[in-house]
Amino acid sequence: MEQETRRKWIRVAVTSVLLVGLKIVEKSQRFPMLVLFLLYLVPYLVIGYDVLAEAWEEIREGEVFSEDFLMGIATIGALAIGFLPGAKPEFTEAVFVMLFFQVGEIFEDMAEDNSRKSITQLMDIRPDSANVEREGKILVVDPGEVAVGETIVVKPGEKVPMDGVVVEGVSSLDTVALTGESIPREVSVGDAVYSGCVNQRGLIRVQVSKVFGESTASKILELVEHASEGKSHSERFITRFARVYTPVVVVSAIAVAFLPPLFSGDFLASFSIWLIRALTFLVVSCPCALVISVPLTFFSGIGCASKHGILVKGSNYLEALSKAGVVVFDKTGTLTKGVFEVTAVHPSEMDETQLLHLAAHVERYSTHPIAASLRAAYPHESDTCTVEDVEEIAGQGVRAVVNGKVVCVGNTRLMDAVGAQWKPCEKTGTIIHVAVDGVYAGHIVISDAIKSDSKEAIQNLKAEGVQRTVMLTGDRKEVAESVAKALGLDDWHAGLLPAGKVDWVEKLLASKGKGRTLAFVGDGINDAPVLARADVGIAMGAMGSDAAIDAADVVLMDDRPSKIALVVRIARHTLAIAKENVVFAIAVKVAVLILAALGLAPMWLAVFADVGVMVLAVLNATRALKQRA
Ligand code: ADP
Ligand code: MG
Repeated sequence: MEQETRRKWIRVAVTSVLLVGLKIVEKSQRFPMLVLFLLYLVPYLVIGYDVLAEAWEEIREGEVFSEDFLMGIATIGALAIGFLPGAKPEFTEAVFVMLFFQVGEIFEDMAEDNSRKSITQLMDIRPDSANVEREGKILVVDPGEVAVGETIVVKPGEKVPMDGVVVEGVSSLDTVALTGESIPREVSVGDAVYSGCVNQRGLIRVQVSKVFGESTASKILELVEHASEGKSHSERFITRFARVYTPVVVVSAIAVAFLPPLFSGDFLASFSIWLIRALTFLVVSCPCALVISVPLTFFSGIGCASKHGILVKGSNYLEALSKAGVVVFDKTGTLTKGVFEVTAVHPSEMDETQLLHLAAHVERYSTHPIAASLRAAYPHESDTCTVEDVEEIAGQGVRAVVNGKVVCVGNTRLMDAVGAQWKPCEKTGTIIHVAVDGVYAGHIVISDAIKSDSKEAIQNLKAEGVQRTVMLTGDRKEVAESVAKALGLDDWHAGLLPAGKVDWVEKLLASKGKGRTLAFVGDGINDAPVLARADVGIAMGAMGSDAAIDAADVVLMDDRPSKIALVVRIARHTLAIAKENVVFAIAVKVAVLILAALGLAPMWLAVFADVGVMVLAVLNATRALKQRA
């Protein structure tokens, strides 16, 4: 239990004891009212001093109608009412109400704490220590103290403390905490490993590639911690609602106190009765169940998504996703694997090996999936060739100077730009053309495979109510068409430059329909501008890629498109629960308010009802934590 909660419990206990004692003193009828008042003031202040201080603080900051203010004014009113002619003192009531309120606060803190804890437990990826090799010895140190380039040892059962590359050993890594994926990932020498994974079998030695603070686990934790800062419409609605609602309630309370006595003929006789009703009315008016449960619902929804390896950067994005009407996909690396295989090499001026050789050299530094495949097709990298002035032209290809000659590798657009007479190819697949000093040198046909769950992703999105699915690609028309057909996409546009993709997204944004949003899904390579332009930008395959994590609003740790349908479902579920809480809390509130105004609910009962609603709403909110894949 936290220190603060413990202290509050002690205050509750002390106040309860004092209250019982004072009740006996009061019964003995030996003291005048003023003395009793002063005596009751002691437990009242013990239990309520911080509420009063908060209220005062808020009044000074210009926020007059806060929850604390309502509690303060109502209990002070109850304390003072006994001094009115003909009224019964309500000292006990005043202390009691404050007591209830504080107990409610304790419960609320505990519930919130609980769901926060369950999220951090689910995201149990923070490593505690690292075994670093220094001067032939293995030292156990804080991961923050390990530098890039050092070698660490990860034993079976341990968490990988920081990102790096395996230099010795084979093992399988459990990535479930990062990706939600329960199938372990096999790693051996040369493979990248990410912090937060758990080493299952063998001992591996890893050369650190990122310091602890920049490693995957730290990045994710940071993201999750900041996720609650982006406020959704629903949450802002609550704040706005409270701003209008509270003054209305205060005015109504004043009306309840003064109007009926004015019309009753004997003002003084009935004023104290109506005043206590008005105060009760004030006490119950506080919309705390709403104010607390809605943000908590979103928090739980975000937690649920992270459990599945989906990081949502704020509740506003969760809300936007729940209204997704159009989902736009990038092709390469998003719907397709982005792992190309060379299926044909058609040289014009040289032999096949020479053509592959040139292409691999030009692609030496590119991170594009095509580049990786071309490098893999010609792995003999260590020769004496010089590669200089490398320039990557987004959506077209790469240009570099190899052994003094300008070599361009890319699509027909790039060939046209350098004036090379390219030849069409009858083969299906992505065609990568090569030109040397502006003279056409031939092309390489590569083909990519559709991811196994792409089709399911499109179908599930439709089932979740998404109206249009669209693919935008820089690849050829033929390839785009066959992918779109295979997946059942509603629409596709090919041969686009990154700017052209932005134009299409603009057009789709304009036509998406009222109250609907547009989500763009990409792999973070070449599509940062579109990710930023869409209502919700989703980047996939982010494990280890900072660029994608930074540019997107929603980050999928692994690269499975089916996670997009899942996050939409989680978003809808969360929004539905938030709405339930809003309706439930307001309905009970209105009912209790009416009862209070009619004098049918004593003050303590009103507070009890209030605390009850809050606890139920908070419990309901934590349902958003659960959604099966
Ligand atoms: P997508 O929209 O499918 O993700 P990109 O916009 O990344 O595709 O690339 C569009 C086209 O530009 C590719 O199909 C390819 O023809 C060419 N291209 C892009 N980058 C490269 C590269 N590094 N090497 C060769 N060609 C490339
Ligand atoms: Mg791409």
